[in-house]
Amino acid sequence: PPSETPQVVVDAHGLPYLNAELPVKKRVADLLSRMSLAEKAGQMTQAERGAITAPGDIAAYDLGSLLSGGGSTPTPNTPEAWAKMIDAFQLRTQATRYQIPLIYGVDAVHGHNNLVGATVMPHNIGIGATRDPGLAERTGAVTAAEVRATGIPWDFAPCLCVTRDERWGRSYEAYGEDPALVEAMETVIQGLQGRASGADLKDDDKVLATAKHFVGDGGTGYGSSTTGSYTIDQGITKVTRQELEAVHLAPFRTAVDRGVGTVMPSYSSLDIVGDGHGPVKMHARADLVNGVLKDRMGFDGFVISDWAAIDQLPGDYASDVRTSVNAGLDMIMVPYAYKDFHATLLDGVEAGRVGERRIDDAVSRILTQKFKLGLFEKPYADTDGASDIGSAGHRAVARKAAAESQVLLKNSGGVLPLKKNQKVYVAGSNADDIGNQTGGWTITWQGASGDITQGTTILEGMKKAGGDVTYSKDASASTDGYDVGVVVVGETPYAEGVGDVGNGNDLELTAADRAAVDKVCAAMRCAVLIVSGRPQLIGDRLGDIDALVASWLPGTEGDGVADVLYGRRPFTGQLPVTWPKSQAQLPINVGDAAYDPQFPYGWGLTTLSRVPEGGVATLKGLAAAAAVAERAGADEVGRTLVGKARLIVQQKVGQALTAAVAKPFADADHLLLTGRYGKAVEQLTAAYRAAS
Ligand code: BGC
Repeated sequence: PPSETPQVVVDAHGLPYLNAELPVKKRVADLLSRMSLAEKAGQMTQAERGAITAPGDIAAYDLGSLLSGGGSTPTPNTPEAWAKMIDAFQLRTQATRYQIPLIYGVDAVHGHNNLVGATVMPHNIGIGATRDPGLAERTGAVTAAEVRATGIPWDFAPCLCVTRDERWGRSYEAYGEDPALVEAMETVIQGLQGRASGADLKDDDKVLATAKHFVGDGGTGYGSSTTGSYTIDQGITKVTRQELEAVHLAPFRTAVDRGVGTVMPSYSSLDIVGDGHGPVKMHARADLVNGVLKDRMGFDGFVISDWAAIDQLPGDYASDVRTSVNAGLDMIMVPYAYKDFHATLLDGVEAGRVGERRIDDAVSRILTQKFKLGLFEKPYADTDGASDIGSAGHRAVARKAAAESQVLLKNSGGVLPLKKNQKVYVAGSNADDIGNQTGGWTITWQGASGDITQGTTILEGMKKAGGDVTYSKDASASTDGYDVGVVVVGETPYAEGVGDVGNGNDLELTAADRAAVDKVCAAMRCAVLIVSGRPQLIGDRLGDIDALVASWLPGTEGDGVADVLYGRRPFTGQLPVTWPKSQAQLPINVGDAAYDPQFPYGWGLTTLSRVPEGGVATLKGLAAAAAVAERAGADEVGRTLVGKARLIVQQKVGQALTAAVAKPFADADHLLLTGRYGKAVEQLTAAYRAAS
């Protein structure tokens, strides 16, 4: 513990709730029975750490939680500084009657992205592209280990948004547009928390996870937002009850089954067609938070509001507090208004606007997680694991994730993989930029271009792979004499809102990117990599590009991208979202009536040179093909042809998808499509065996 020791008002030692041998339920009941209303209100209050200018307020208001939010004051940049800062806050709780530890939370949404030198994973959209639940779990485990080693027991992740319109600036926080894909990637919850029972949360390499944002955050309509100029973020999700269940609620059901410890409601409003209420903010929706999440799904963790989200509810502050707490929110991220919130909540209870039973329920839920995390026994940072932050072992996981997330959209004439004896001309805004490669929510909320943390850029990775590369960012260097060009373009970092305002938020490449692509692709055979949080429109330019790769936001390990470029690993990624042809098609999702995208959901070629007998990649590809065929309403699942170490899965699909699926097939050397495992795997595996 830190050296400075504030005066302890009451020595709580010896009381039953401190007895770690007792069941958590008993400890919670004992502690709750001793607490005053003010102490309970404090537990329900979460303040931004930058708001705490008088540290004594932590004890004075019995604060239950602090956070370093996205829009927070600058965060510490070493593991030691994080631990020291949090320990100093934690020490303040010793001056309260029951010394209830704070629970500190951060957004570690792709690795411990708040810390310089930490391992930064691909953003979720790339994880969705891997279709690899085991890998998703490992990325969660690395994240948890790095976060907890800096004294932080709580992570506001994963985002379970099902993104339906990529003009949304948070599209990259989604695993994809299909709820089944989001659900498959929820293994990340086990990576973060360990077993669903919560029995591993005490460990020094696990953290409490947050399923967010409940519910429908990814379904907001373009132009539906009234929040500033956001146009889609925090807007209105208009759905039928059936769509709500199947698309947006399904991932939360899975998260509850996986034992997720906390859930965060969405800033957005939900408008359920035909229920007669019109759009209602999720932070006010008792029917969904109390009714569906807690009562029907049986969620027994606690609900944490989003940042200042209750301020967006209609009415005065007293009404905001009453409405949100009565809707089932257990802890409110105020984040600066902790004094007001505390007082208003107390008033609300005294005036009978908020029932004491509701308060007791909220506080019990919060205390339960604190006990499970072992915070009463070990309130201070255990930094033993800090030496592993950014370690080779952790980076190997991120590198694998980066490699598996790469989606090969086109590969005419087998331009990829590159060969080491080829002279390669590298150009483009995102070839050599760690900041652009990691995107938003990296070191700062919005992220930033440039050398913001440690890692390997794509260019550096290519050099390390032994490539003979020449780099000219703007393609101004002479293009004479090269075997192949690699142009890495895409977005600059952003978080929330509509996204990349600098790029116009129209999913168009910048003029500089277009010029680099045009110049290099006119001069030589070329591969274009798009480093971005969502599809970028390529349109007719596709004809001039030999190979096209969706690289998403691969994180700090550019080595992983180089691995697939140089064939050290095959491309196996599959589109987690539909790739549109034009803006006019937005929003576009698999299953739409008139579905004619540039590349369909699940699309992805592979450079596997050999189909391993019964190998995972093969099974994945077969399963995937089956799923797409099923979705398209195929009357016949398709047949497989295996020849000369090549796999082409040909499908006979229903009208809607025929053109979209068949066209890119025509020049595919190898093909993997996405999908779920299941009966189709068996059928197609049998077909594959028979064919070979
Ligand atoms: C975001 C949340 C995040 C919170 C705290 C909000 O603006 O919507 O996803 O957890 O800030 O940083």
